[in-house]
Amino acid sequence: MTNDHENTEFRSLPSVERLLQEPGLGGLAGAYSHAAVVSLARQQLDATRRAIRDGGTAPAVEQIAAQIMARAEEEWAPWPRPLVNATGVVIHTNLGRAPLSKPAMAAVQAAAGGYSDLEFDVRAGARGSRQAHIGRLIAEVTGAETGLVVNNNASAILLGLSAVAGPGGPREVIVSRGEGVEIGGGFRIPDVLKQSGATLVEVGTTNRTYVRDYATAINENTAAILKVHPSNFRVTGFTHEAALDELVTLGRERGVPVLNDLGSGCLLDTVQYGLAPEPTVQRSVACGAELSFFSGDKLIGGPQAGIVAGNAEWVERLARHPLARAVRIDKMGLAALSATLTSYLKEAAHEEVPVWRMIAMPLDVIGEIAERWLQAIDSPAVRLRAGESTVGGGSLPGETLPTTLLAITPHDSPDTFAGRLRSSATPVIARIVDEDVVLDPRTVAESESDIVVAAVREALAAGRA
Ligand SMILES: *Cc1c(COP(=O)(O)O)cnc(C)c1O
Repeated sequence: MTNDHENTEFRSLPSVERLLQEPGLGGLAGAYSHAAVVSLARQQLDATRRAIRDGGTAPAVEQIAAQIMARAEEEWAPWPRPLVNATGVVIHTNLGRAPLSKPAMAAVQAAAGGYSDLEFDVRAGARGSRQAHIGRLIAEVTGAETGLVVNNNASAILLGLSAVAGPGGPREVIVSRGEGVEIGGGFRIPDVLKQSGATLVEVGTTNRTYVRDYATAINENTAAILKVHPSNFRVTGFTHEAALDELVTLGRERGVPVLNDLGSGCLLDTVQYGLAPEPTVQRSVACGAELSFFSGDKLIGGPQAGIVAGNAEWVERLARHPLARAVRIDKMGLAALSATLTSYLKEAAHEEVPVWRMIAMPLDVIGEIAERWLQAIDSPAVRLRAGESTVGGGSLPGETLPTTLLAITPHDSPDTFAGRLRSSATPVIARIVDEDVVLDPRTVAESESDIVVAAVREALAAGRA
């Protein structure tokens, strides 16, 4: 129901045509499509009418124009927007997982803007395969016969199960009850199995599963044994899991392939960095798993990708499956992955691959950076404190790396202060520990130090105002 207030206020609202005559909006309509600017103007006028119905008054024309400009700036600015990850979580799933290495970025740039031999054999002058080159690299890095890459590990597993246990052959896939896990984002092993057309056969118990449990479940309908690395949680106490090599021995005896979902897909020894041992791809391959599956953007430190390393005959089955085309990886992902894997071939991953450089960062180096921040910020509200960084990305649950944190005790609430850091020109993402807002130098690139210092200084100044 309209009333006098609403009628008066509605009448003083400008038309879309009138709005577009405002100098700023005219410029916007010149830079972007006229239709897009008109649509944004209509949405803003609708929002204003709703506010009037709730008892508000009509803003001035200039003010509505400014609101439209602000919205355009937010919605049409380049995206994803870079930010500073000061959380100390190295593989942060919400913040884009692994940052790429310099060689990987250069490879993406070279592949992105022009033509390439992505699917072309330059020597023969004929069609080639986008998997041939990367397959050889995967083989060289992991020790497997060959490899295959798709767009992420979830699709690699879906493809693997579809090709090995889908319609047209034996369908049963044996999984330990302790490994029917949810990875996150709704990805659950039992659901993926169902989606692939396979039949899940659960064996053992949540905490203890033996090789003999698998052995008794094998029959003429068995398509595969699936082992899943429970990446994001840990079962402790009275537990037992069947070792991969035992499962491979069983599989060989009974003619059943063993598929191993490693999750993170680690290629380096985590123990040398003070972390718990994370199963490596090389070991999975050496144990004889027919197919090993892992992500490109977790501990590999490359682009989003699902990597399969294994036995040529089985990998070929995946490559030929119709789903392979549906989960195909793009040229930029392939370029970045090929450069990232080359860092491992050069044994330079700990220097070149950011994820490993951060994990390997010595405590005294972190302390020096934190000390420099402290000096530059120069405020009684700021001090250094010992803390812990985590690897994240659903890998190494409960494992931490010692670090030195810049801790801010704000005058107002830690939430408000963390919000102010997020609203800096380049957002800075912090963590809250106890009542402190803490920033971890481990995950902040050298070139981002000035951004952190400026953001903290501004946030402190705003808090005192
Ligand atoms: C992360 C993870 C996946 C999914 O990998 P994405 O590359 O994110 O698709 C699958 N299995 C395990 C065990 C994982 O940890």
